[in-house]
Amino acid sequence: MSDCLFCKIIDKEIPGDIVFESDDILAFNDITPQAPHHVLIIPKKHIATLNDLKNEDRLVVGEMVKTASTLAAELGIAETGYRTVFNCNAEAGQTVFHIHLHLLGGRQMSWPPG
Ligand code: 5GP
Ligand code: ZN
Repeated sequence: MSDCLFCKIIDKEIPGDIVFESDDILAFNDITPQAPHHVLIIPKKHIATLNDLKNEDRLVVGEMVKTASTLAAELGIAETGYRTVFNCNAEAGQTVFHIHLHLLGGRQMSWPPG
């Protein structure tokens, strides 16, 4: 999608600090990290929100979640703990309308989230 920030990172039109790439997904460090480790994991297919998921997207979402788990192990936060978050629409604070799984870790988290 031409005016989507994350599609531009996928297409390498704007730089991203990429930590993992496959045929179907990309993972890169968040530009404004909210924790010592803050990675965004996105599908290469443009999907605006979780509400727009189709049955055919189940595999790619599974790959995103599995990649979060793998990256957490590589970052050394698998045992201490980490959080994974999808924000969906305004009340959840979604600001980029291309779905992304936040992987956050390296500090104590609180609950409930703000
Ligand atoms: P949301 O609030 O939509 O769940 O999360 C969007 C995330 O994208 C935010 O954590 C924000 O810091 C991050 N972000 C926004 N613009 C850029 C960018 O140009 N590059 C990177 N790497 N992250 C971005
Ligand atoms: Zn997009």
